[in-house]
Amino acid sequence: MIDSQAIRDRLQEQRRRIERAAATAGRDPSSVAIIAVSKTHPVEAIVAAYEAGQRDFGENYVQELKAKAEQLAHLSDLRWHFIGHLQSNKAKYVTPIAASVQSVSSAKLARQLAARMPSVPLSKADGSSDAAAGPNSSHPAPLRILVEVNVAGEASKSGCSALELREVLDAVDAEPRLRLCGLMTVPPFTHDPEAARPHFEALARLAKDHGGQKRLPELSMGMSHDAEVAVSCGATRVRIGTAIFGARPPKE
Ligand SMILES: *Cc1c(COP(=O)(O)O)cnc(C)c1O
Repeated sequence: MIDSQAIRDRLQEQRRRIERAAATAGRDPSSVAIIAVSKTHPVEAIVAAYEAGQRDFGENYVQELKAKAEQLAHLSDLRWHFIGHLQSNKAKYVTPIAASVQSVSSAKLARQLAARMPSVPLSKADGSSDAAAGPNSSHPAPLRILVEVNVAGEASKSGCSALELREVLDAVDAEPRLRLCGLMTVPPFTHDPEAARPHFEALARLAKDHGGQKRLPELSMGMSHDAEVAVSCGATRVRIGTAIFGARPPKE
């Protein structure tokens, strides 16, 4: 059973939390968006958050994303963000659904995503720029891309290394159907949220070194337990799951 009221209350609480964190950091609260990470939670939980005004949802698994997007297709302004490990051969399932992929970690995956973008109707493929693609255009909007960086160099984590970053960014930039938006990271898990700070700072520094605000305006970092630290380091998107939807069932 889903406790929709509890989800709505926790979502409100998280909004206040992020606003406070932004204010404390001297930042505009509207510069930080919450992505509600709904992986493993049923569509009823997503609908509860949607009813409370949440529009951005994060999912980690391709099959689960597909199933949920089909069930919730009537919520046409809901935006899906793919944040999990993505194999190149699964790109085709994600591109018709996702508003952004935040876990691009190789040039190969970037090229696959571009190649698998829903095709532009021939009659409209007149060379006009993607910038002209609005809601009333039949050009599909470019897929927003965040490049995931494994800032701590953990062997078990996905994400490219700081040394590989330039190549991946250039590969995204080279694809007209992709829009490079920023960087994402998942730091090593620690119970002390402050332990994530050096990793968040490292991501912010990499963004600065690779084009800064103009090229990489988005920093997706911070989760349920360390969102304040991430906001103080410049996060523009925090990915919050547990604190909104409750504990996830253990993966078998
Ligand atoms: C699961 C997940 C989250 C959300 O984590 P919580 O601790 O539940 O807030 C955020 N980002 C990524 C990449 C995840 O896989």
